[in-house]
Order: sequence, then C-alpha cells, then structure tokens
Amino acid sequence: MTTPDPSPIRVRMAPSPTGPLHIGTARTSLYNYLFARHVGGAFVLRVEDTDAARGTSEWEQDIIDNLHWLGLSWDEGPQVAGGEDIGPHAPYHQSQRMDRYGAEADRLLASGRAYHCFCTPLELDAVRREQERTHQPPRYNGRCLALTDADRAAFAAEGRRPALRFAVPPEKIRFDDLIRGEVEFDNALLGDFVIVRGDGMPLYHFVVVVDDEAMGITHVVRGEDHLSNTPKHIALIRALGYREPIFGHIPLILNPDRTKMSKRKSQTAMTAYREQGYLPEAMVNFLAFLGWSPGTEEEIFTLAELAARFEITDVHKAGAVFDKDRLDYLNGVYIRTLTDADLAARLRPFLPNALGDELLLRLVPLLKERLVRLADATELAAFLTETDAQVAALYESDLLLAKGRSGPETEAALTAAQAAFRAAPAWEAEALEAVARAAAEAHGWKAGDFFRPIRVAVTGRMVSPPLFGSMELLGREQSRARLEAALERLRA
Ligand code: GLU
Repeated sequence: MTTPDPSPIRVRMAPSPTGPLHIGTARTSLYNYLFARHVGGAFVLRVEDTDAARGTSEWEQDIIDNLHWLGLSWDEGPQVAGGEDIGPHAPYHQSQRMDRYGAEADRLLASGRAYHCFCTPLELDAVRREQERTHQPPRYNGRCLALTDADRAAFAAEGRRPALRFAVPPEKIRFDDLIRGEVEFDNALLGDFVIVRGDGMPLYHFVVVVDDEAMGITHVVRGEDHLSNTPKHIALIRALGYREPIFGHIPLILNPDRTKMSKRKSQTAMTAYREQGYLPEAMVNFLAFLGWSPGTEEEIFTLAELAARFEITDVHKAGAVFDKDRLDYLNGVYIRTLTDADLAARLRPFLPNALGDELLLRLVPLLKERLVRLADATELAAFLTETDAQVAALYESDLLLAKGRSGPETEAALTAAQAAFRAAPAWEAEALEAVARAAAEAHGWKAGDFFRPIRVAVTGRMVSPPLFGSMELLGREQSRARLEAALERLRA
C-alpha cells in the first residue's frame, strides 16, 4: 500500500478582471497549468475581483473564455464566467470572501500586528512631500501607531473612518525563489502599509495572502512584477501564522526593444490574436517558449507534450522578448499540419456564408501553403463571393498592365490568354496553367508578366491564391466574363 502524498502541489492563477486577458497573464496561467499537470498537482483559478470600480464581468468572461480557447483547464474555481464556483474552497471570487478577510483583519488587530490609522489623504500627502523635500524614501511615518485610546475616540468622533495598517516588522526577508534563486529584501525600508481601507475594503497584499492559505496553495508562481510584493506577503504570512508557500517569479515579457511589453508598443490582448486567426496550438507553443525551452532544438509541442516536459525550475531568469515573427512562423507551421477539413472548419468564422462549405473545402488546399493567419483568408477568398462588377470596381486599368507594357500590348496579351482558355481541354487548374504558359511563350512574354493581367482581371487583386486553381473554383463562365470586362477596360 502506498501512502498518499501528504502535501500535493497546489498552484493558482489569480487574475483581476480589470481588462481583457493579457498575453502576460496567459503565459503565467500556462506555466501554472503546465507545472500542475507535470507534477500531478491541482490548478486553481481565483478571481481577484475586489476592485469593484475597475472590474467587470465582461472582462472575467474574456479571461475565462480565452484561457479555455488556449486549451487550459483548471481543477477548482469558476469553470465558465458567471457559472458556479466549483471546488472545496468555494467561493473562488474574492468579492464573495469578505467575511474571512474581516475575521483575519480582526485577528491582526487584536494581536497588535495591525493598527487603526486615521490619517487623511491630505495628511499623508503632506508627509510624502516633506519626505521628498528632505530626500527621504516615501513611506508611512507611523503616526497612528502611537495613538492612545483617547486619540482614537477623538478621531472617530470627528467622523474619521480608520484604515487598518499592517505593522511591518523591520527585518530582512529572504526566500528561495524557484526561478530566481535566493532573494533578499529589507522590510525595514517599507513602512507600514494599509491592508483594509477606511471604507472596509480589504486590499490586494492582504487578501492574496489570506486566500493562498485558505486554498492550500503550496507554490505561488506569478510574474516578476510581483517580486517586490513578496516580502510584504511573507511578513503578513508570518504575522498571521500561516505556512509559507514557495514563490517563483517568471520573467517579464519584453518588446523587441527590450522595454516592458505594453499596450502602446505591442498588441497585448489575447482576443486580438484570436480574432486575427492565430491558432491556439501555435499561441500555446509560442507562450511556452517565452521564458522556457526544453533544452533541445525541438520546437513543436502539443499542450500534453509541454506538460510532460515542463520543469518550473527550468524557467529562465532573463526577460523574454516577444518576437511576433516567430509567432507568425509557428502559426503557419501549425496551419500546414491541419487536415483540410479541420482548416476549413477553423476558417469558417473568417469567411462569408455565401462561400458554401463545398467550395470552401476546395479552396483550402490553395490557401494552406500561404496563410500566416486565418484572417488572411478573408481577403484571399473574397473574389469568390464578390460579383463581377465588384471585382471590376477594385482595379484601375493601370493595375492590369504588366511592367513596362502599354495598354494595347496588354490588351493583345489578354486576348491571347482568353483564346487559349477557350481552347483548354478542361476547366481545371493544370489544363488552364498549361495553355496559359504555352500562350505566354507564343506571345514572347515572361509567364509572370503574362499572368498579371489575368490575375487582376479574375480576382481584382495583385495578390491571390494560386491563379489557375482560383479560376477553376470561380468557374469557366465567371472567369471568362471577368477577363472580358478587363479587356473592355483596356480598350476604353
Ligand atoms: N490579481 C493579481 C494580478 O492580476 C494576482 C497576483 C498574484 O498572482 O499574486 O496581478
């Protein structure tokens, strides 16, 4: 008989629903997921929605939907936005856990580890300015720590509602970060910080610590932007008599210029990538490599393969540059591994209903080799559902002209092409290409020059799927009508 592991690993993702799912949050979620799956631990989703002013249920929906879209799943927490919180530690929404925060705050107050602070914003501001003037680090000056009961009663009588401030022990905090190794901070430099606002709202540093304990979190894996918060959390954990989890801070995601990835310089919302037609498989692969690598040259992994290989301690310390070209490259690679039927299904949302399923399935092989993103198909396939008049309206006659060729020269070439197509043994790509090549040669033009007016006439564009396959799909009648319309344009 085997004894069950007394302390299975439990990790959590704790997004604040104050915006759409951010690339960085997605990567942190993925690393937590992979870590949990790799070691057979539990992955918890907790919604940090205490910031009622900024958080919305739409953002929560966006976050949860996009995590699902990536293929991530979790063992505890809301499984769908607005749905039930599932798991032994429910509720998993912080807004529904106020009683527990209140009780823990009372405990800190009773033990003297926290105290009421009656300072007004104006008073705190004056302290800050004075510290600036005398070149001291900005921190709370401890005024309310020394209040007598009479002082407190007097402030209360003025109508002041006290905040609760944590009395930070002035000691060095050292911890072994899973990724960064030993880290040390001096909490003597911190100053006492507010854990519950005057209006009763408990704040992030406090609630995160209370919940991680309550939910039995053994490993806190989060972005490096939280590294400087950790000594505050450890101080609170000790004051509350909790077990200290192991911390791991994963590197920041950087813009190509090595500045911190920001909305201003890069697209950070996952939804935007999804809407452009990045495949979740490619996105997962890309995110996994933002700060981790398997130590080999292999680059294509499924989520399950990643989970088998991923070691949290192998995550890099250095910032990870967001390389959009690599994402594009990976997306193309994944697109080309899809079956035609699968690719057709994934392209469906990017194409009009007028493009029927049968035609779509025939179009897929033409697109597969050249798609970077699924959304590219919208423009590439448009000529199939546009009317002849719409296509003709897309180009000026100049666009028909091959390089260095005049209108009459191009007209003659296109007339020769029209005749060749009329004589084609069948209206299918190979036959059309053969007769067009022969006609180009007979005409003394390079194939590329000869094909250009044909492409523009048939699709209205300089860029299209392979030309003769496109003509096959469009059909004999419509292709010939479009060529005729182009000829008329040239004659005019
Ligand atoms: N709600 C915090 C955030 O979104 C969670 C930080 C943490 O993981 O402790 O950044």
